Amino acid sequence: MNNIILPSTSIMVTEACTLKCKLCLAFVPYYQKHTQMNLQEAKTIFERYFQIVDGVEKVSITGGEPLLNPEIDSILKLLYGYADKILKEIIFITNGTIRFSDTLLETFANNKKMKVIVNNYSTLLSPYAEENYNKLCEKGINAILYTEDNRYGWIDCRNHELKHKTQEACEQQAKGCAFFQGKKYVINRGRLYTCTRAAYRIQENIIPYTNDAFLDLLDDEVSVEFQRNKLNALLNARSTISCAYCDGLTEKSVKYRAAEQL
Ligand code: SF4
Repeated sequence: MNNIILPSTSIMVTEACTLKCKLCLAFVPYYQKHTQMNLQEAKTIFERYFQIVDGVEKVSITGGEPLLNPEIDSILKLLYGYADKILKEIIFITNGTIRFSDTLLETFANNKKMKVIVNNYSTLLSPYAEENYNKLCEKGINAILYTEDNRYGWIDCRNHELKHKTQEACEQQAKGCAFFQGKKYVINRGRLYTCTRAAYRIQENIIPYTNDAFLDLLDDEVSVEFQRNKLNALLNARSTISCAYCDGLTEKSVKYRAAEQL
């Protein structure tokens, strides 16, 4: 079988957040319940994920707000154990609402692939964004501060009605979607999904789906080979079931100001 190198995988280490953004692309404020990844689960999930894929270009640690996970430092160190399979970057995305601990700053500094994205939504919403960013710079950690001046506009993906009724229309949607084309996969609750929209819609039973739409990384009854075949099928598909219910991120998407609160 061919090597499987994924372009991108986000790991949602918590579904808890300090903000309630109306247009959260992970739909976190709309979850019925909020869970988080613990270290034991992380061990199982990472081990299986890195057995299935031969490599991944970028891994992002996201949430929710990842700093709310009390085991975040240990989870990050665990991920570093697979750094040779993470070909370009390990990205940590935070919203500037919580100060970095000195321990976590040390952990960031200990891996050259680490890049930290600090979002500054406003001084009111993200009171520690500037301070956190400055600390990262002082320690020589690769960091980006996103403000209203340099971030991409947000989009509204909250309409989950069936929009593309034929296979052709669905494929057309996926073809124009930056998330689909970038294979922006996400791990949440032990499952690997093809994007955060798909994750939410399947997890919350908003759309019809089959088990072919995701990989269960906590299922030790199925072989790695079986899951590699399943992943290859997802990678080669020209759309996903979720694309039928989606406007995605296309050239036509209307852009909105970031982080408007509910
Ligand atoms: S069209 Fe929607 S569901 Fe399909 S990949 Fe893009 S964002 Fe995900």
